[in-house]
Amino acid sequence: MPDRTESDSRKLLRRLRDSLAVPAKGQDRLDTITHLIADSMGSEVCSIYLFRDPETLELCATEGLKPEAVHKTRMKLGEGLVGRVARTANPVNTADAPSEKGFRFMPETGEEIYSSFLGVPIQRVGEKLGVLVVQSKTARQFSDDEVYALEVVAMVLAEMTELGVFNGEGDAMRALHRQQVMIRGTTGQEGAAEGRVWLHEARVVVTNPVADDPLTEIERIRGAVGQLRVSVDDLLAAESLDKDQKQVLEAYRMFAHSRGWLRRMEEDIALGLSAEAAVEKEQSATRARLEQVPDAYLRERLHDLDDLANRLLRILTGQGRDTGAEMPENPVLVARNIGPAELLEYGRKLRGVVLQEGSVGSHAAIVARALAIPLVIHAERITAEALNGDPILVDGDQGIVHLRPDDTVARAFREKIAMQAEAQKRYASLRALPATAKCGSTVQLLMNAGLMADLPSLEGSGAEGVGLFRTELQFLVRNKMPQRAELAALYARVMDAAKGRPVAFRTLDIGSDKVLPYMKPQDEPNPAMGWRALRVGLDKPGVLRMQCQALIRAANGRPLRVMFPFITEQSEFQAARAHLLREVHRERSLGHVVPEKVEVGAMLETPSLAFAPEAFFKLVDFISIGGNDLKQFFYAADRENELVRRRYDTLNVSFLGFLEQIIARCRDTGTPLSFCGEDAGRPIEALAFAALGLRTLSMRPASIGPVKALLRRVNLDEVKAVMDAARRGGADTVRPALMEWLSGVDGAGM
Ligand code: PEP
Ligand code: MG
Repeated sequence: MPDRTESDSRKLLRRLRDSLAVPAKGQDRLDTITHLIADSMGSEVCSIYLFRDPETLELCATEGLKPEAVHKTRMKLGEGLVGRVARTANPVNTADAPSEKGFRFMPETGEEIYSSFLGVPIQRVGEKLGVLVVQSKTARQFSDDEVYALEVVAMVLAEMTELGVFNGEGDAMRALHRQQVMIRGTTGQEGAAEGRVWLHEARVVVTNPVADDPLTEIERIRGAVGQLRVSVDDLLAAESLDKDQKQVLEAYRMFAHSRGWLRRMEEDIALGLSAEAAVEKEQSATRARLEQVPDAYLRERLHDLDDLANRLLRILTGQGRDTGAEMPENPVLVARNIGPAELLEYGRKLRGVVLQEGSVGSHAAIVARALAIPLVIHAERITAEALNGDPILVDGDQGIVHLRPDDTVARAFREKIAMQAEAQKRYASLRALPATAKCGSTVQLLMNAGLMADLPSLEGSGAEGVGLFRTELQFLVRNKMPQRAELAALYARVMDAAKGRPVAFRTLDIGSDKVLPYMKPQDEPNPAMGWRALRVGLDKPGVLRMQCQALIRAANGRPLRVMFPFITEQSEFQAARAHLLREVHRERSLGHVVPEKVEVGAMLETPSLAFAPEAFFKLVDFISIGGNDLKQFFYAADRENELVRRRYDTLNVSFLGFLEQIIARCRDTGTPLSFCGEDAGRPIEALAFAALGLRTLSMRPASIGPVKALLRRVNLDEVKAVMDAARRGGADTVRPALMEWLSGVDGAGM
């Protein structure tokens, strides 16, 4: 068999394309295609295996093997030569297939008479769709040109599969994007939602994988790469880049200027692919190569290259981010990652959010929480699996996503949503009632907020005020430093909405994971323990003072409550308080109205502050325990790190003992104390805190109902007795004892 020429390949691709122009059933099309390929490659056999599910391949069409085997012969990923091609995403080329390691004999196909075997993956941008195989009787190795040509054909098949031209008949004919998928991720925000996928970055659709005129396509690809290079150079020329951004862009530039990249795409075009299909083919090949690389740095570069290829595709197809597609009803946003400002722009119209990456404490997660939208993060491969408009169920409680669910799953899920709605109704009936336990103690329940969007919850949840207003969100969602007047207007609206209920404004808490886009990021070895929150505020007091002024003006004579984050020792609180009082004084001397009362509090977020001198406790007007940070420093376990963040229980006796000490010191000094970390919103934790003597808890609005319902059912003295008994018994954590006791409490239903 002579080596293939470029024109052979082009002719074959054109015949493949033309076969699509004829109306036909999916199976007939596949049959025609295997026939065309076998004929063009001069081989006796051509077979197409497609994935039936992510682990199983099925023979879907063949020219040369026994037709009875079609839709019968199946193999697992990694099984036999076909399975090997699929698993490694690399070609297998052998003159003597039966003697090849891993060969599996499948008698029903009649393939034993064929000696040589060439299989290449059918994949689209790293997504495995199937395997294309040619076989012949003569024992011979296929040439590099033939391997390459078959890869190009496989690319066209992948595009066709993606376009759905083989759908319609037989289970295995369903494209992967038609099948039900369950993805297990991590909870970002609890809650359940049903809706339809809305991709934040729509996939580029390539409708013309085959091109007639290679010269035109080569001109197009060169022009597009030229534009891409200019755009990367422009990005690099921007002045505001930090070191990391520069490094990433340098890598982009290196890829964009890589001669090999352009040359390979030009070779693909010469064989008959369109410019777009050539970009995707290279993207797939690089992904397949790099996905085998365990090195994290190289995998990061995979993202860069991917991003670059996507940019190139957008230049070529003219498809911007906005593809003109209409957002479905009940949209569930699916994205690799998203910034807080972008998420806020979508706002409450979203039913849920699913991110492939993201982290629990990321800004997007904070915004999703503020908007009370169920969020699942770390949902692997979701951006590759999901298509715009796909039905999707988001289970924020379990951190699970069901894409294109079948009826049984959807029905069970709807029941869960209905039960939650039922519970919400029950909580709503408690709205106006106090959180008074059976022993007569009342716990004040406040809510955490950070956006104007939160404030309607004040009425809805029955919160008695805002125990923590995180002011940094207003800074994070903008691309430049907000002005004093803007902030003053916003804080005033917050106070208006609170209608006289207390609102504790926490001053800017940036650094650590919260980096302002317009501030030069610091290159710190351990940002959570670095230059963050009030440490920045005191070292560069311009912003802190501006924020204090804005708060004073917003109060416009009303009482003002301010708290400073991340106080580690008394002197920091004294300095911050002095800044605030100086601004009050200054405003007064300028003739402005000042607040009728100013209360200044400290957030206790590092263990050191619990041991501050008594004078500190006497100086502060109130203390709020920032349990998220306090716990991470108490246990030395990063709150962002999935490997450790769940390792230590809040109800561990050491942590409870520590909280008891703080409660005792506040009681002895008459200092009002509250708890505003996430744990305050978890019913069992809230119960334990209340039993230890905490009388103010601040939490997400959605948690107020469940926490109140439970508090009203129990006697806190009994809760305390259960905890004490567990502690005396030498338990590490009081959780099991509490759970067991609660199971016997009428209506607690744990
Ligand atoms: C905390 O640390 O518990 C807290 C409430 O602050 P943040 O989560 O914003 O750090
Ligand atoms: Mg904190």
